[in-house]
Order: sequence, then structure tokens, then C-alpha cells
Amino acid sequence: MSTAQATPTPNSSTAEDAPIGLFDPKAQYERLRTDIDDRVAKVLAAGTYVNGPEIAALEQALAAHGGAAHAVAVANGTDALVMALRAEGIGPGDAVFVPAFTYVATAGAVRLTGATPVFVDVASETCNLDADDLARRIEFVRRAGTLRPRAAIPVDLYGLPADYDAIRDVASAEGLTVIADAAQSFGARRNGRGVGSLAPIGTTSFYPTKPLACAGDGGMLFTDDAERAALWRSLRTHGTDASRTAVALGMNSRLDTLQAAILLAKTPYIEAERQRREALAARYDGALSDIVETAPRAPGCESAWALYTIRTPRRDAVLAALRARKIGAAVYYEAPVHLHPAYAAFGDGPGSLPVAERLSREVLSLPLHAELTEPQVDRVCEVVANTLGS
Ligand SMILES: *Cc1c(COP(=O)(O)O)cnc(C)c1O
Repeated sequence: MSTAQATPTPNSSTAEDAPIGLFDPKAQYERLRTDIDDRVAKVLAAGTYVNGPEIAALEQALAAHGGAAHAVAVANGTDALVMALRAEGIGPGDAVFVPAFTYVATAGAVRLTGATPVFVDVASETCNLDADDLARRIEFVRRAGTLRPRAAIPVDLYGLPADYDAIRDVASAEGLTVIADAAQSFGARRNGRGVGSLAPIGTTSFYPTKPLACAGDGGMLFTDDAERAALWRSLRTHGTDASRTAVALGMNSRLDTLQAAILLAKTPYIEAERQRREALAARYDGALSDIVETAPRAPGCESAWALYTIRTPRRDAVLAALRARKIGAAVYYEAPVHLHPAYAAFGDGPGSLPVAERLSREVLSLPLHAELTEPQVDRVCEVVANTLGS
């Protein structure tokens, strides 16, 4: 571990050769340390480690922030998706449409219910679910006649909300439920609306690299439907009701009170940090727009800016150059989901989802977090520009 990361002082972070992290969760902790430490100590002293009052307080704060009537905190973003699907009665024999270009958890959650993931290509401009391809894939499934099309799970990749209007039109014509996988986009807005209200059901994750992060694993579900929220609350505690009778097959998937306490310390800064990342993204745009395809944007959307992801056919050369300069760039994702061995049986192999496959060869995420400085962004851009010869 580098000294520069252990002691994030202005001096070390702007030094010519100091490493630049893709994320910097420790620097954020240093900034909020007093409040986080106080809140954690309070929970430890109170002994309310499960279902402490911080859970309901966080659910209320994030429901309001996300624009949903109800929020239910759970153990992680994958469980949130599994619970959302199971609460709709989705399981074996059902088809659930997911983008081929996402973190494997989206498709994994579908498999964990026994349902079948059906991969849909993404739009090249946004890297998000392509509504026209969704319509085509639903038609294939209907014609094949073996699976019931039940749901679609658009993903807000890199923090940018998917095209929910177009997806809703396709889904409602086909009777599909839309579940927004907002694991990467908490804090984003689409047409002024928070990610808790982009679809009838929304889920998010508080994994340490997501835009709103706890110190470990955490997740949340969002809905305006009180009955649905009540069912989720039951499912996260073994499917039990208020009298502790098991009325459904549930799981043990609760957010720890300690994690809720940490998240409560961060909630006042969600929008300020998003705006800071947006300003840094604009700086990247300005320096890189002539030499690479800059990070995806979409009309009406304010991205959460979880990642700043460029596209270039010379991706591997740029990645190697950045790594040689100790700059924390990374590829999200090296392979589309249908080309992972565990999911190959649910796809049609190479060539079947061309945009997702091309993106996996061209994408590269550059450092982006609220503690990053302008000179650091400039240093990253210089390495990219030098490598691509402009
Ligand atoms: C991180 C992530 C998940 C899973 O969240 P966890 O909290 O890690 O379980 C699901 N979908 C997407 C798109 C993600 O990025």
C-alpha cells in the first residue's frame, strides 16, 4: 500500500508520480471521520446490531432521496434483485431479460430464483439496455414457446440511467415487470426523478465502489407499492410476519445497523459528491473528446458518475500505459455476461450480442471520485493523449 494513499494530504495527492486510485474510499472516510466514528460508536454502545433505529432512519432518508414511497434495506444488491424477483413470483420456466453488458450479478440473481436470463444487447451510445433489441428478444422467446416472458432488468451502467420510457413502452405492451438495477446509480436522476422511481421496482447496492457506499456489503429496494414493500420486509427475515410465523419462503438478508449508521453520515453529501464527480467528468470530456469516445451521456439524465468510462479500439495500450504510471484504470467489463462460462448455456456464444462484445474490448474506466483533484485528472488525460499519439 502506498504512503500517498495512507496519508491523503494535498501534497502527496498532487505529487508528480504519486499513485492515483480509481476510487479512494479511505479519503472519503477521512473527510467524514468524526461523524462516522460517532455514529458507529453509538450503535456499538447501544447493542442494536440488527434492526436498530438507524435502519428505519436510512430507509426513510433514501426513499425520499430516491423519490420512492418505500425503501427496504437488505444485505447487498444481489439479494435485493433476488428478493424483487421472488416477490413477483418469478422462478423456473420464466424468462427475465437482462443486458448482456453488466456485472454478472444481474444475471446471477435471475438464476438464483430458478428463472432463465435472456440476454439483450445494449445501445452503443449509452452502454445501456437497447429497447428495440428487448422487443426482438421477447418475440424470439414467445415464438420458441418454452419460457414465459415475465420481467426485464435494465441496468444503469456506470451511473447513467437506462432509457426507462422506451423500455416501459415495450415491457407494458408485453406484460413484463420492470426492475431497475440501480446498483451503480444511486443519486442519479432521469427527467428530474431519482432512481427509486425509475421503474415500479428499483434496487441498489452500497458496495464500497458504488456511488453511495458503506464499509462492506449493503443494498436496498424501492417501490411506491406498500404491499410489495411489506412482502420484502418479510422476505428479508425468513418470510415471517409480525407474529414471527413464516408465511413465505424468505431469506436472511438484512443490512447491518452499523452499515446504516455509516450510510447516514454520508447521505447529506450524495448530491454534492455527485456534482463534484460530474465536474471532473466534464474536465475529462474537455481533454479527451478529440481522441477517444468519451463517457456515455443521455438526454434528460444526470448520471451518478459511478465510473468515467471511455471507449477506444486501443484500450489495452492505454490501460498498460496508465498502469505503468500507477494510475488506477480498470476494465468494466472484460467479457459480456453471455461469454462467462457460468452463463454460456443461456446465450448463443460469440457474435450473438455484437455491441456488448465490442464494448468489452473497448471500454476503460478512469479514476473518478469526489476526492480526486483537477491536476490528477490532467495527469491521467496526459497519459491517455500521449499513448494515442495526439
Ligand atoms: C454491484 C452490482 C450488483 C450487485 O450488488 P452487490 O451489492 O455487490 O451484491 C448488481 N448489479 C450491478 C449492475 C452491480 O454493479
